[in-house]
Amino acid sequence: MDIISIVLSVVSLITAGLSLFIIRGEHSDSNKVFSLFILSISLWAFGLLMFRVTNSISSALNYSRFYYIAAAAIPTFFLHFSYLFPRRSGFKFSSFGVLYIPLAVIVLCILAYPNFILNEVYYTSAGVKSASVNIAPYMTYAAYFVIFLIIAYFNLLRAFYSSKDNHVKAQLKFIFIGTIIPYVIAMYFDLFLPFFDYTYIWIGPIMAIIVVWSLSYAVYRHHLLNVKVITTEIFIAALWIFIFIKTLISSTYQDRLINLGLLILTIVVGILLIKSVQKEVSQRERIELLATDLRQANQRLTELDRQKSEFVSFATHQLRAPLTAMKGYASLILEGDMGKVPDEARMAVSRIYESTNTLTVIVDDYLNIARIELGSMKYAFDTIDFRGLIEDVIAELRPNMDKTDLQFSFTAEHPVGEIARDWRITGDRDKLKQVIANLIDNSIKYTPKGRVDATLSFDRSRHRFVFMIKDTGIGIAPEVLPHLFQKFSRAGNANKVNIKGTGLGLYVAKEIVEAHHGTVRVESAGEGRGSAFIVEMEPFTKA
Ligand code: ADP
Repeated sequence: MDIISIVLSVVSLITAGLSLFIIRGEHSDSNKVFSLFILSISLWAFGLLMFRVTNSISSALNYSRFYYIAAAAIPTFFLHFSYLFPRRSGFKFSSFGVLYIPLAVIVLCILAYPNFILNEVYYTSAGVKSASVNIAPYMTYAAYFVIFLIIAYFNLLRAFYSSKDNHVKAQLKFIFIGTIIPYVIAMYFDLFLPFFDYTYIWIGPIMAIIVVWSLSYAVYRHHLLNVKVITTEIFIAALWIFIFIKTLISSTYQDRLINLGLLILTIVVGILLIKSVQKEVSQRERIELLATDLRQANQRLTELDRQKSEFVSFATHQLRAPLTAMKGYASLILEGDMGKVPDEARMAVSRIYESTNTLTVIVDDYLNIARIELGSMKYAFDTIDFRGLIEDVIAELRPNMDKTDLQFSFTAEHPVGEIARDWRITGDRDKLKQVIANLIDNSIKYTPKGRVDATLSFDRSRHRFVFMIKDTGIGIAPEVLPHLFQKFSRAGNANKVNIKGTGLGLYVAKEIVEAHHGTVRVESAGEGRGSAFIVEMEPFTKA
């Protein structure tokens, strides 16, 4: 027996065993069809083997009928399989009878007509068995084969696009890559080339082994490898088989030796290539795994952050009521409503009052931040007079200013040519008061001596109100400027003049102003050179 016959018998045996193994497993419809599909490959290889080894021309012709019938079953079962995989409900094994009609017709023709597919079998001058085909029936046979495969791939493609399951998608991708290439090669040697040369007919079953391997792998292996690895493997396997075949059919001894050397080389290089691709892919998979872990950790952290914000919101809310009571009573005592207070006690109560005030501001900042983070900050928008609002804040802060030696001014500038200006804006009065109060309070806190000048103007070209508060205070270093409006951001020089700060006020201010479609920014020439905070707001417009 020559080497090709050995290969054919191995193919036939392996596929027969696999077919039995599969049918003995799960009794699903797709398993049955798949098992029959593999069985027909086994019979086809067996028929070809017999065709090769028999010495009689007439029995070779009979064997050819046998293997053409077996091969005819391949596209039908493959098509049937494409309807069943991945498991789609509503398809019943029995309802596919109609698929088998063309197969039945072909089988009948092969059996009923003498020399239907092959015209004659003969030996070539090299002593190899060959045959000539009957053009018309052979073309019909080939057309049936190709059409059935095209429909099958169309089905699989449809399944691929309609499936939302990534695993199924990977399986289908695998089937495409793993079957199309060997099918095309097999069809070239077994359906096209026979019109000219029949001696390569045995290549088909070898390619079919790759088809079977790919399908089994896709259907039964649950964790599919990356497509990149598979493509490399299939490509290299095809290359090996090709060079192997070339080695087998080499006509001279020298040719065979060269091909063998080439084969060994491609095997070594191929294995190295596959290994390196596998390594790369597994590294990528590890990175993807880490990324998933990271994503999950991030989700957990976001959730914890939300819970923290909720807690802060709850806790600060609870703190507010006692603080209000403390402030209220301290104020009553200071105003003398509780009777005469000795001077020492008065000083202590005044400390209590101030500390409670500071604490209220801090608690309010935390409460606002928790609300901002939870997205539950509520705004009561109304039409308000921006200038009046600023004047109110200044009046409230006047006692603080009076405690310092600072010069303070506020001017609202009319644009040239305007007698009076409408300073109305749309906003939440309390929240905006908080912003302006924070900015003025900061400029008092961070200006040990000198001036604080506030101006309100209208920028006609940009149609914006511009509130600017400029001081001659400690200024801000250039590297700190971009971060100043972030949470807990405090410049290094701030501690020297105000140790109580939290670095939250500007963050809250920015959030509030932006919720009003306004902007807030800071300018400073550097430490010790004063700073200016600028708030810009849209004027009120009648809808
Ligand atoms: P706090 O004043 O409680 O620290 P803020 O958010 O109001 O928090 O301010 C953040 C930081 O911005 C301050 O710590 C200070 O470093 C800087 N800053 C704010 N206003 C001024 C100002 N007028 N002059 C100089 N630095 C300022």
